[in-house]
Amino acid sequence: MLMERKSNMCKMHHHGKGIKTKKENVMLHGIGVSHGIGRGVLYRETTFVPVISREEIAPEGRPDQAQKYKNARQSAEEELQKLIDSLQAQGTDKAAIFAAHQEILLDEAMEEEILEAIGEGQSADSAVEDVYRAYAKRIARAKDSVIRERAKDLDDVRLRLLRNLQGVPDDLVPGTDGPCIAAAEEWLPSRIARLAAAGHVAGIVAEKGSATCHAAIVCEALGLPALFGVGEGLKEAPAGTRAILDAQAATLEVSPAEEQWREAGERVEQFRRAAAIARQYADRLAVTTDGRRVEICLNAGAVDLPPQSEVCDGVGLFRTEFLFMEQQHLPTEDEQYEAYAAVLRKMGGRPVILRTLDIGADKQLEYFPLPKEENPALGVRALRLCFDKPDLFRTQLRAAWRASAHGNLWLMFPMVGSLEDWRRAKQICLDVRRELEQQGAAVGRNVPIGAMIEIPSAALQADRLAAEADFASVGTNDLCQYLFAADRTNARVAAYAQSHSPVLMELLGRVAAAFEAQGKPLSVCGELGGDARAAAVLVGMGYKKLSMSPGNMPYVRQVICRSSMEELQSLARQVCAAATQGEAEELMQRFYQGVTRAPEEEAKCIHE
Ligand code: PEP
Ligand code: MG
Repeated sequence: MLMERKSNMCKMHHHGKGIKTKKENVMLHGIGVSHGIGRGVLYRETTFVPVISREEIAPEGRPDQAQKYKNARQSAEEELQKLIDSLQAQGTDKAAIFAAHQEILLDEAMEEEILEAIGEGQSADSAVEDVYRAYAKRIARAKDSVIRERAKDLDDVRLRLLRNLQGVPDDLVPGTDGPCIAAAEEWLPSRIARLAAAGHVAGIVAEKGSATCHAAIVCEALGLPALFGVGEGLKEAPAGTRAILDAQAATLEVSPAEEQWREAGERVEQFRRAAAIARQYADRLAVTTDGRRVEICLNAGAVDLPPQSEVCDGVGLFRTEFLFMEQQHLPTEDEQYEAYAAVLRKMGGRPVILRTLDIGADKQLEYFPLPKEENPALGVRALRLCFDKPDLFRTQLRAAWRASAHGNLWLMFPMVGSLEDWRRAKQICLDVRRELEQQGAAVGRNVPIGAMIEIPSAALQADRLAAEADFASVGTNDLCQYLFAADRTNARVAAYAQSHSPVLMELLGRVAAAFEAQGKPLSVCGELGGDARAAAVLVGMGYKKLSMSPGNMPYVRQVICRSSMEELQSLARQVCAAATQGEAEELMQRFYQGVTRAPEEEAKCIHE
């Protein structure tokens, strides 16, 4: 059955907010999945809702029901085969998801139970409904998140079977008069693939879902711009109206003004051309024209790493809290150990920076309620919470140290605000290692221990941290939030968090210089590291390692491969000397356009 990869978490801010900008023009926010921008008429998916007959079937009618079930299974299998063929023709490797659906469909144990239920007088649809739901329920209780994800596949197959049983065709595609943005409460992966195959879907949007659900993976694999987790506000967006989906900005603009609509059309075209070119850099090493090698690492949050993990230089940020957020209970030491060891093994010797637990503020665990605070982002979160709950921290550190025997582990603490924080965390970490060694456990040697630089007080004393820590990684998401006093979860202040501002860039430059002076490794793992325009500035400042969500990698590789260090350094100097964010952005944009050049010219260079 299904063993699918999940993409890492990204862009968790702007969750489910909606602000009215004009009377009829509404801007909705969500979690941007995949890349790009799509423009089209909003289509609202009405989900197939099966009506299940619970009447007992007389003995003479039962063979008919059994035959009905077998026919439905046969046509469902044919549908899946068509889907697989069309996905393979599009050159994605995601057909495996639907091959796994075929396996579910043909599962002998389930078939036996269904036929048995029919033999006892249940109708074919109620037998399918009951058996599939029972299996899904059992799987949904599994500890392993990968197995739990399969419950959704069972739901997908169940609905396919029931639809076939009830003779509802699989051709419910939106009207073919131009591109559409397809909206639903929640998407099934097969449905997205089906819509994409129909060829005129410009974007996918959903009230629910996250960046790691299977539906998101399918969108990313098909290159469909998507926005998930928009919330209930999406229900109010009327079908048939125009909408612009910008996955990068994580927004859906409903009923845009004529000018915005036209402009979006141009951006769609530009994006298409740029994406095709950037894709050619997908597995190239990021080396400047004069030989500076920049490590391109992955931001991940789940044990199932995306395909890009095979060609990147390591995991630059493993957000361990997602493991906690996926569960219904605090993961045990063994569960954590298994997860961390699995990631380390998969990365086979390439570095994996494991960030210790960062919960609190916008990352809450339902089963582990934290006391209410007036300002949770300034409260007991991340490392502070770990200090407050030593058992929680020590359990995670024990798991991490044990896992370190399986690969190249680097350990990192989030939200370090002072040298006291740093020293205290490091001491606990070393105590745990000693304890394990005394117990005879195998722990890795030479595990670098580092700090995240994401609180301004840490950035301002980067020299002190560089003297003591083995390495650091800059979390620009939080650094920006705290530097500009702009809550990253509040869409209304998003414009105040000036992530391209010369002030932030200057500070990042000083952090780079401090680590360079000590010869210690430094990276950026906030969103800025995956923002190709900003990445050029960062490399120019001396950053040699950038960590990002997988979709950003080709763009960042492209800009690095097309520039010289001298050009990047000059850009960094100019950006830091700019007066405003607007000026800095103009410089960055001009540079980016210059190095990525006109598509024809670029395409020629690549084919030379
Ligand atoms: C950051 O703050 O930039 C970061 C990488 O951590 P997170 O986004 O998980 O807070
Ligand atoms: Mg952070």
